Amino acid sequence: MTRAYNFSAGPATLPEAVLRQAQAELLEWNGVGASIVEISHRSAEFIEVAAQAESDLRTLLAIPDDYAVMFLAGGATTQQALLALNFAAPGQIADYIVSGHWGQTAIKQVRHYVTANVAASSEAGGFTDLPAREHWRLSEGAAYVHITANETIHGVEFRNTPDTGEVPLFADFSSSIASEPVDVSRYGLIYAGAQKNLGPVGVSVVIVRRDLLQREGQPRADIFDYRSHVARDSMLNTPPTWNWYLAGLVFKWMLAEGGVEEFARRNAAKSALVYQAIDDSGGFYRNEVAAAARSRMNIPFFLADDTLTARFVSQSREAGLLALKGHKAVGGIRASLYNAMPVAGAQALVDFMRDFQQRHG
Ligand code: PMP
Repeated sequence: MTRAYNFSAGPATLPEAVLRQAQAELLEWNGVGASIVEISHRSAEFIEVAAQAESDLRTLLAIPDDYAVMFLAGGATTQQALLALNFAAPGQIADYIVSGHWGQTAIKQVRHYVTANVAASSEAGGFTDLPAREHWRLSEGAAYVHITANETIHGVEFRNTPDTGEVPLFADFSSSIASEPVDVSRYGLIYAGAQKNLGPVGVSVVIVRRDLLQREGQPRADIFDYRSHVARDSMLNTPPTWNWYLAGLVFKWMLAEGGVEEFARRNAAKSALVYQAIDDSGGFYRNEVAAAARSRMNIPFFLADDTLTARFVSQSREAGLLALKGHKAVGGIRASLYNAMPVAGAQALVDFMRDFQQRHG
């Protein structure tokens, strides 16, 4: 069995070199006589791994010193709830820009804690575009403005960082973190579940401007308090050590490959290949997202004849292209092209698409 090209939206494909290293080290790691999954998070050896991972992520994303970085158990959804608890007073307004499914989820998580104001939404248009900045109705004195940098299901991505003035911008980067350079200083907070571009599911990265941690927030358990996590270097309790270690290997791999500038180039090339194949298909395939908002990471598309969709999925799987079935919320096909997907994988998909069209068009 050889490794196929895996277009899963998450958990997603990881760099083969990273998996091989983890495999080689699994039984006995770094001369400690045990696996990394069997040693204490308080051991000098693990603390070194954790600190190196943070340092490498800081290099990769050029994170300024006045930003804290946390590696936390729990997914992006957990962070969506913690945002309100940590940074908004009870019942305070928080503005949400909804450009797809995950923006809606983010609001669901904070309902009990804040007055979530939908400052703009592209739902009426089926989430095929970003809500235009000039139509956002931001609130006076909002705790923060929340955006989803890349909507994993609807395939809609912010290509520019919106200006929210004095109100800090909080962004869910789960499916696009480290896919291109980002000016972290434009954000109050960036969060991401690891399972797309950073590593295995089970750990989230939170990057927050330190002054925001002074906010009182809401009554909450210590374990839900970002200040406590920052104060203890994300080791308030037992952290997901395996995930943290693997993410660290992915960071090293990304740096060795040329950093986020190189991934920006590859991601642009991969997504251009697939969009081109869709747009050149004479309507056999169709992507409905406005050109300027098209995601480089997740490309949902449809076959003009939907009765062919199941056949496309099964034949692509037989051709070594995994997990192309679209999310049930939108149907059709979805190709996820995260950092670990090589350009050759996107090319293999495009070759299959053209071949499939020839046989069924
Ligand atoms: N936000 C985005 C943009 C996502 O893609 C996902 C997961 N697909 C989530 C949030 C939820 O992440 P988790 O399952 O880690 O809570």
